[in-house]
Amino acid sequence: MTKMRYPFCMTITTVPASDEEVNSAASVVWNLNDLFLSPEDPAIEATLASAEIRAKSFQETYKDRIASPDLNAKTLSAAIREYEQIALMSAKPGNYASLRYAADTSDAACGAFMQKMMERGTQLSLLLLFFELELAKVEDAVISCLLADPEVAVYKHYIDTVRLYKDHMLSETEERLLEETANTGGRAFRRLFEQVTSTATFVFNGQEMSQSEILSKLYTPDREIRKAASTAFSEGLDKSLDTITFIYNTLLQDKNVKDRLRNYTYAEQSRHLSNELTPEIVETVVQACTSNYDIVSRYYNIKRDVLGLTELHHYDRYAPLFEAKDKVRWDQAKEIVLTSFAQFSPVLSNSAQEFFDLNWIDAAPRKGKRGGAFCAYITPDLHPYVFQSYMEQSRDVMTLAHELGHGVHASLSRGQSYFNFHGTLPLAELASTFGEMLVFEQLLKRSSPDERLALYAGKIEDSFATIFRQASMYRFEQAIHNHRREKGELNRADFAGYWQSSIQQMFGDSLILGEEHQSWWSYVGHFVGSPFYVYAYSFGELLVLSLYEKYKKEGAALAEKYIDLLRAGGSLAPQQLMDKVGVNLSDPEFWQGGVNVLGREVTEFENLWKARSK
Ligand SMILES: [Zn+2]
Repeated sequence: MTKMRYPFCMTITTVPASDEEVNSAASVVWNLNDLFLSPEDPAIEATLASAEIRAKSFQETYKDRIASPDLNAKTLSAAIREYEQIALMSAKPGNYASLRYAADTSDAACGAFMQKMMERGTQLSLLLLFFELELAKVEDAVISCLLADPEVAVYKHYIDTVRLYKDHMLSETEERLLEETANTGGRAFRRLFEQVTSTATFVFNGQEMSQSEILSKLYTPDREIRKAASTAFSEGLDKSLDTITFIYNTLLQDKNVKDRLRNYTYAEQSRHLSNELTPEIVETVVQACTSNYDIVSRYYNIKRDVLGLTELHHYDRYAPLFEAKDKVRWDQAKEIVLTSFAQFSPVLSNSAQEFFDLNWIDAAPRKGKRGGAFCAYITPDLHPYVFQSYMEQSRDVMTLAHELGHGVHASLSRGQSYFNFHGTLPLAELASTFGEMLVFEQLLKRSSPDERLALYAGKIEDSFATIFRQASMYRFEQAIHNHRREKGELNRADFAGYWQSSIQQMFGDSLILGEEHQSWWSYVGHFVGSPFYVYAYSFGELLVLSLYEKYKKEGAALAEKYIDLLRAGGSLAPQQLMDKVGVNLSDPEFWQGGVNVLGREVTEFENLWKARSK
C-alpha cells in the first residue's frame, strides 16, 4: 500500500501501552435475563401457549364482527387492546431468539431456536390476520364516529395506518389471486435479481472476488488499485447487464400493471402512502437536496486538492483522506456520549446512563457476533437493548451515539402502549442522528485541527451518501418509471443515460463519472426490491439536521419540546409529531436549515484545510 499524502490520525487520548491488547469494551455484554433465562426457560413455552389460547379466543370472539355495520366503540377498543396484548406477549420470545442469534451467529442452536420462534410467530399471526383486513374494510363514516370515543381515539394513528390502503385494495378473490401468482411473478424476478447479484464474481488481478470484496477496494489509498478495481467491477456488472435490464423492465411493468389495478395514479404514490407523507412534502425535501448540489462539488474540489490530483474520477470518490489510528477507550466513549447528551438535556443523559448501568448494551467484539449495530425496542413494558462491536475508533463512538439515540427514543416512548410505541418510518432516525450531531460537536471540541479535518471528512462523506446521493438516485428512479409508463421498455443505453445524468448532476464538474460508471445502477437492490425507498434516507437525515439547526437558534426551549416529541413515540402521524416542535414539513425554509448545516461543515473543512496547507 502506498503512503498517504497527509497521513494523520485521530487522537482523543493516549492509550497506556500495557492495555494495548485487551479491547476496553471486552466485558461490556448485555444481560438478556430480563427477557428469559435461557432457550429452555419454561416461561417461553408458557408465554407462547398463553398467546395462542388468547389468539384463538380472539378469533372466535371478533371474526366477522369488525367489518360489520353494528360495530361499536366498546367492541372496537376492547378488540384492539386484546390484539395489542397478544402481539406484545408473542413479541418477546421472538425478540429473545433474534438477540441471542445476533450475539452468536455461529451457534447452530441459536439459529435453530430463532427459526422455531419464527414459525410459532407465523402460526399466531395466521389466527390474527383477519382483524386488520376487517378493520380496513369498515366504512369511513363509521370509523370517524367511533373515533369520537376516547378509548378508540388513543389508537387513531394505528387505525389510520391499517386503513391507509383501503382505497387501493381489491376484492378478496382478486387479492388471493395476486398473492398466489406473485411467487412466480414479481417476487420470482426479485429473487432472480438477488441470485444474479449475489453470485456475481469480479476478476481483479487474476483473482475472483465477490461484490463486497471488490467494492472494498474502492476505499484503498492507492489510486491504481482503486482504478483497477473499478474497471473489474464494471466488467463484472457488464456480464449480467442484459439479464438485469430484462428483470428491471419486467418489474417496472409489473408495478405499472398493479398500480393501474389498484387505482394508483402515479408511480411514487404507494410509497408516499406507506411513509404517511404527501407528494408535496417529499418534493420539497428532494428539491432542498437537488438545488444545493453545489455543496457537493465544493467538497469534492477540496478533496481533489487534498489528494493532490488534477481531476477526480468516479474511482476517487471514496479515497480515504485521513487515517484514524489512536484508540478511544470504552470509558471515554461513555463519558463523551453522556456529556454530550447532558448538555442538550439531562433527560437524555439520564436515560442513556441506564443502558450502561443496567447492562442493556452488548459492545464486546466477539467471534461469531453478527456485523453492524442496532437498537432493539422490544416492548414498552420491558426496555430496549443496544448492540455493536466496539473497536475503539472514533467512528465507533459515533455509532454508540447513534444507537443510544435510538435507545433513548425507545425508552422515552415506553409510556405509550405497544401499538403507539414504535416511531413511524420517516421519523425513525429522529433521535439517533440527533445524538450523533451532539457527540460530533463534543468530539470536535476535544480535537486538534488535524483531528478535526479527519472528523469533518468522515462526517461530510457520510451525510452526502445519505442525503444527496439518495436524492439523486430517487431522481433516477422517477425518470425510469416515467419512461416505462410513457415510452415502453428501456434498453441499456436508456438506463445508462438516466443514471449518468442523475448522478453527474450531483457532482457538477467536480468529478468525472466516465463510461465505466454507466452500468453501476444495476447492483442497487433498493431499485428492484423497494421502489422509491431511497428518499426516506434523505428525508430522515435532513430532517434531523434541520431540527438541529432550529435547536441552535432556540436552545433550551426546543430541547423540552423535543423530549416531548420523543415521548410521543409512534402515537401520531409524522406532521402531527413535528407540530410538537413547531415544524411545518412543507416549509422549504425549514429544510434549507439542514442543508445549511452541511454547507457550514464543508466551509469549516475548507478553512481547516487552507490553514493547514499554508
Ligand atoms: Zn439508525
